[in-house]
Amino acid sequence: MFSSRATRAVVVPAQNFRNVRNLATIVPVSHRGRDHKVVVVGGGTAGLSISHQLLRKGRFVQDDIAIIDPATWNHYQPGWTLVGGGLKTKESLRRPLAGLIDPKLKFYNSGVSAFSPDDNFVTLENNDKINYEHLIVAPGIAVDFGTVKGLPEAIANPDSLVSSIYDYNVCDKVFGTVQKLQKGTAIFTQPAGVVKCAGAPQKIMWLALDHWKRAGLYNASNPSDSAIKITFATGLPTMFGIPKYCATLEELRIQRGVEGLFEHDLVAINGKMATFARPGGKEQVTKQFDLLHVVPKNRPHTFIKNSPLANEAGFVDVDSKTTRHTKYSNIWSAGDASSLPTSKTMAAITAQAPVLVRNLLSTIDSKEPQLEYDGYTSCPLVTEYGKVLLAEFKYDGVPKETFSMVGIDQAVPRRAFYHLKKDFFPWVYHKYMVKGKWGGPKIWSN
Ligand SMILES: Cc1cc2nc3c(=O)[nH]c(=O)nc-3n(C[C@H](O)[C@H](O)[C@H](O)COP(=O)(O)OP(=O)(O)OC[C@H]3O[C@@H](n4cnc5c(N)ncnc54)[C@H](O)[C@@H]3O)c2cc1C
Repeated sequence: MFSSRATRAVVVPAQNFRNVRNLATIVPVSHRGRDHKVVVVGGGTAGLSISHQLLRKGRFVQDDIAIIDPATWNHYQPGWTLVGGGLKTKESLRRPLAGLIDPKLKFYNSGVSAFSPDDNFVTLENNDKINYEHLIVAPGIAVDFGTVKGLPEAIANPDSLVSSIYDYNVCDKVFGTVQKLQKGTAIFTQPAGVVKCAGAPQKIMWLALDHWKRAGLYNASNPSDSAIKITFATGLPTMFGIPKYCATLEELRIQRGVEGLFEHDLVAINGKMATFARPGGKEQVTKQFDLLHVVPKNRPHTFIKNSPLANEAGFVDVDSKTTRHTKYSNIWSAGDASSLPTSKTMAAITAQAPVLVRNLLSTIDSKEPQLEYDGYTSCPLVTEYGKVLLAEFKYDGVPKETFSMVGIDQAVPRRAFYHLKKDFFPWVYHKYMVKGKWGGPKIWSN
């Protein structure tokens, strides 16, 4: 199974890559069987974009690049919010993964269970070993429904009005719960800590609010007189982490009469009661609900967290600018699994992928990484049917807005942004991004 060894990894102290000899120049890989020049762990948004961008550079031949992923389907996850809003079917947002992978790439339809970075191989769940010269680690992040006591049972119960857009299997339960609620209290939660697309937990609330408003069940100008009361219970201290967009969202919350429970982190569900942990040893709070939309905690995968590649938090420990591992100079990471200190989104990957690709190729050419990722990420915040606030920012929360060049303030919710979110982004994802042809706001990747 485990044929001739690839190059031995060079372990270097963090921030000291200048003295590292290029790995690809040390010992050429005998390119047979399970040896690959580049192995990509995860064929999701990041893995597909990066492997196809690499392939399109014209420097790799058949099976030089391998993708390892156990999945049958690739999902356009941002669309699950639209499913929750009754705007799309979940089936329309997925494609068979094997069909998205260029035949020039070797596809191992299996999971990785362990990394051996000192010996340049990964181990698959069936114990096979795959050798690499360069490794790209992009298996995303786990959504852990077990972090809220009683949640798996409540979600699985078709009669409960408990649901979540954060999972393919249940995202199509959400709109039904919104339609069923005629009166009572609706609570929408966001966990403390990292969550992919930090705006999604409230996007689904704004859509539900608009639905109830149109159905005559919610009167934003007099919420106390409405059949339905709405609460946003978030583990975070504010509506959104970036002050510019937070100001608009907080204003909307107040205008629309939504109760804000900040630093309330859902930990348990019991019947129609939801219990929230509070920071600083404050007492837990329990609230009654009739409808509950839950976003559970997102966690690094255990096989990453327990590996030599992880930082203390369990993410693949990469340099925040080059995307290269801080210890292993032939290991790279992007997307949700990486330690890149920005908001975890598909949009962020549009900016990370070209940087990773260029820097990896520079390394093969015995050069230092040349491009720097600036932390770009984006969150199209649906604020009602037909309107989106388009948050775009980089490291340190500094706005980096695509349309500022034409004088547009993206903190103002607009119809044009709604069509970007609902129609354009899903289209461009399937048509260009997974094929390595989409560079985000920089348009087409070359
Ligand atoms: C409800 C929701 C709304 C969102 N809204 C937006 C939005 O509006 N805009 C936006 O930009 N982003 C949004 N996102 C976030 C976006 O979908 C993710 O940030 C993005 O998909 C991350 O890509 P990734 O490649 O890192 O991980 P993924 O796309 O999740 O892919 C990870 C891949 O790794 C594979 N894998 C897992 N374990 C292993 C293993 N052991 N071995 C090998 N492979 C493995 C998986 O099968 C999967 O194919 C949203 C996400 C959700 C859930």
